[in-house]
Amino acid sequence: MAEQHIQGIGVSPGIRIAKAFVINNNPALTTREHINEEEVEAELARLGNAKELSATELMNLTEQAKLSLGEKQAGILSGQAKMLEDPAYYPQIEKRIREERHSADHAVRVVTELIAGKFEKLSNEYMRERAADIRDLGKRLLSHLQGEERISLSDIREEVIIVADDLAPSDTVQLNKQYVLGLLTRVGGKTSHTSIMSRSLGISAVVGVGDAVREIADGELLIIDGSQGICIRMPDPKTIETYQLRQQSEQLELELLEKFRSRPAETKDGIRVEMAANIGTVQEAAAAVDRNAEGVGLYRTEFLYMNTSHAPNEEEQFIAYREVAESMNGRPVIIRTLDIGGDKELPYLPLPKEANPFLGYRAIRIGLDRKELLVTQLRAILRASHYGNIKIMFPMISSLEEWRDAKATCEKTRTQLIQEGFPVSNSIEMGIMVEIPSAALLANAFVKEVDFFSIGTNDLVQYTLAVDRMNEKVAYLYDYFHPAVLQLIQRVIKAAHSHGKWVGMCGGMAGDPLAAPLLIGLGLDEWSMNSSSIVKIKQVISNLDSRDCRKLTDRLLLLDTTEEVRRELVRYMKELQPNE
Ligand code: PEP
Ligand code: MG
Repeated sequence: MAEQHIQGIGVSPGIRIAKAFVINNNPALTTREHINEEEVEAELARLGNAKELSATELMNLTEQAKLSLGEKQAGILSGQAKMLEDPAYYPQIEKRIREERHSADHAVRVVTELIAGKFEKLSNEYMRERAADIRDLGKRLLSHLQGEERISLSDIREEVIIVADDLAPSDTVQLNKQYVLGLLTRVGGKTSHTSIMSRSLGISAVVGVGDAVREIADGELLIIDGSQGICIRMPDPKTIETYQLRQQSEQLELELLEKFRSRPAETKDGIRVEMAANIGTVQEAAAAVDRNAEGVGLYRTEFLYMNTSHAPNEEEQFIAYREVAESMNGRPVIIRTLDIGGDKELPYLPLPKEANPFLGYRAIRIGLDRKELLVTQLRAILRASHYGNIKIMFPMISSLEEWRDAKATCEKTRTQLIQEGFPVSNSIEMGIMVEIPSAALLANAFVKEVDFFSIGTNDLVQYTLAVDRMNEKVAYLYDYFHPAVLQLIQRVIKAAHSHGKWVGMCGGMAGDPLAAPLLIGLGLDEWSMNSSSIVKIKQVISNLDSRDCRKLTDRLLLLDTTEEVRRELVRYMKELQPNE
């Protein structure tokens, strides 16, 4: 048979070549659905026994997960054990046996599906994923009811790629990464539990492949590429060779970078800077922790509002912010208030068509106009502040009046929450995004009132150079190395440092290796970027000397054109002697 390429979603990187280990984890569990009156007690006893066995099993698996995956992932399993005690679940199964003469198996299936279906309808992504947990629990009860052993994945003793419809969290914990090289599943997305767990285990994974998965036979040779989301069935020898070579260079690059994962971002002469992550979802916080991010420098909360059909209420937002704060474990989390408008729309908040949306009704302008939106979000953020190290940041600030209004709204909201009896942290730093030239030019005035600045180069460039960041036709003009942009950045950092305040950068420039010597030279304190760029930037920084970078920066700031700045930087980087 000819080689076959199947496209899925790459959720955990790495090229793997191994035999398929096919799990049919969705057996048709057929048992009769109804029982007679006199069988009720026996059926309840059978259910009770399955419950006990499930509870013990979950307790053991939780302990196992704590050791292999950490507290957070173990929490998913202990959460299932708690669901077993939930009045909305187990007693409902008993009720169906008693009142509707359901067999225990049928009652478990019906109640499980009913609850999973309800979870699936919720707009909150986190809650939707609880559907997988309740189904996993249902399967466990069923397997004990039917006296069957669940396949023990921990018994696998040869190198394989697991092929399945989906893997339950409890299956994933058992994977031994020495033998299980990869995962290939029919369903799933970047944020499914399988994906999160495979990333934390370092097992390469491609999910959401679709029905093609069902055609794969146990034992056939597969190649998967967890970055590109590709699976190759029946690869011919040439393809195998190509992928083996790619695997080797991937390995070399990883080994090289791996050394920097646990190291701080520090220049040769010992200047340390903070490496933070930009995130848009709760799940990305886990990836940030995985990459050793020292905090979240930008939590783009828009996504929480964009993936739903209604504005997320205070409770839904609170759950998300609290989870991010907790998963960062005391490390700072900068939550940016809603930045909607421009290129981002909300289906339930129709914004009038504007000739220049990026110059129009956007971000904090909407928040200050529609205070109910801002206050709901601030209430959720402030409540979550009790559970971690949260800071608040306002987007698109162009004047002191806007900042003062936003800050006063926040303080009023805080007082109100305290009156209502909510615990709220009493030391929340508040800052602004510097992404409009007027804010950069007034940095000396802002600095007296804000706790920090975070430079948003993505917008700062478009507003300074009058170049629409979405317009391909003028993309050639869009460049953060433009001397005017550099002068603004320098101005902001100087203003902050003269008042003992810190400055971050969460725009794309922070994750560009070419910008690193310049940003070190300028004295940027906190760098926030996509978490996958962190190791690379740390490696670049480790090869820099801050004194040289300052001299370079002084020279760069005297240049008149973007081209000269770029040329100088490229030359500087080429001449650096690698230290590793
Ligand atoms: C920026 O403008 O640089 C920024 C980080 O914000 P966003 O890209 O979300 O506009
Ligand atoms: Mg911006």
